[in-house]
Parts: sequence; structure tokens; C-alpha cells
Amino acid sequence: MRTILFILTFFICATGIGQSDAQKLIITPLTKDFYIYTTFGDPGNGSLYPANGMYLVTSQCAVLFDTPWDTTQFQPLLDSIQTRHNQKVIMCIATHFHSDRTAGLHYYKQKGIKTYTTKHTDDLLKEKNGPRAEFLIYGDTTFNVGRYAFETFYPGKGHSPDNIVLWFGRDSILYGGCFIKSIETNSPGNLSDANITEWIRSIENVQNTFGNPAFTITGHQSWASKKSLSHTLKILKEYKSANSK
Ligand SMILES: [Zn+2]
Repeated sequence: MRTILFILTFFICATGIGQSDAQKLIITPLTKDFYIYTTFGDPGNGSLYPANGMYLVTSQCAVLFDTPWDTTQFQPLLDSIQTRHNQKVIMCIATHFHSDRTAGLHYYKQKGIKTYTTKHTDDLLKEKNGPRAEFLIYGDTTFNVGRYAFETFYPGKGHSPDNIVLWFGRDSILYGGCFIKSIETNSPGNLSDANITEWIRSIENVQNTFGNPAFTITGHQSWASKKSLSHTLKILKEYKSANSK
């Protein structure tokens, strides 16, 4: 028995994190027609870290908010949506230029899905040779999808210079991407393109604009708390004061 356990443990370790195919893509209902999907990527330290995206299903179609980080999950996500909801994804919008938001843009464009980013995000993707969207938005924009509508909002610089949030007013969902940190962490995360001082101002801008959303979706880890915005502010202020001494 011990030997078997050892072999099993070894096998799991030797094959990476031991994730089965099903665990590479986790879909969690959020509210009504909204679902959170989670895939996993390597943030650069050899480990696997979860990234959250979202999708909306209407009676006619489905819309993706950000693309999977895991490049093996672009098609499985489309297939899962087709199987679960009998709907095709027709549109995808990415909320900043990092690969945990944009990795699948080229793939989805090839599949005939209408892909969108802001012009600012596109400029950065062009500069970094990243996958670019087919369509660009040039300022805060409202999209109508079936009986739903959502607006894009640029709060100012933060996690990245181009980060936007999405607001689904009818259901009071603030989709924050990596701009908003989970209460599961006390770290501001990847700061390679961040501006802490501006980020603090930008979070306050979002708080003043959208008040207290019923749901605040974070780019990584748990989105269950309604306090993610104020928690992000706390993390940023602590980081700023610790680093200004
Ligand atoms: Zn991220």
C-alpha cells in the first residue's frame, strides 16, 4: 500500500501539479446568466496560479470577458459553453494587455469571434508582439448583448496603464480583472507594469463611480467578498507606505 501511495505521489509530482483535464478549467455560476471560469498559469516562478474570467449567456449567444490564461483551454471553454448552454460565443473583450487576459485573442479571432480591446491595450500588445483583437474601442463604451448591457470604464492607471473594468448595471456586477485584488491576498501581485500611486486614485475613482456592487470579480483567487475594492485600496496604501520609507 505504501509503495502504491509513493508511486501515486511520485506520479502526481512528476506530471506537474497533478491537475486532471477537468480541473484545468473550472466553471462556477455567479448569478443568473453569468458564470466565472478559472484557468491556471505560471506567474513566472514555476507554480500554477488561478486566473478568473467571466462569460454571459443570453438566449441568442454567449460573450467572453477575458480569455483563458492556459493556452490549452481556449477550445475547451468554447466547447463547455456549447455543451452546457447550447450557445456559441460571438464576442470576447479583454481588460488589459497581460497574457492572463489576452492569450486567446488570436485564437478566438480565427474562430470568427468578434474580439475587442481598447486602443491603449492594442498599442501595448503591438509593442510586445502579443495577440491583438480585431476591433478597438477608443473610450468608455456601452455594449448591448441581447437583453443585457455592459459598459467599459477606464479608471486610470493601476495594475497596468491600460486596465479597464466592466460594469453590468442591471445585475450590479463589477468585473475588475487584475485591477482588483482578492481578499485572499495581501500582496499587490505582479507590479511590472503597475503604478501604485495612480492605482490608489483609480480604485477611489471606481468606488465613487459604482458604489457598492453586489458582485466584484477579481482577476485572481476568490471573488466571494464584497470588500475587494476597499481591500485592494488597503493593500496598495500599505505597500506604498512600506516602500516610501
Ligand atoms: Zn492578472
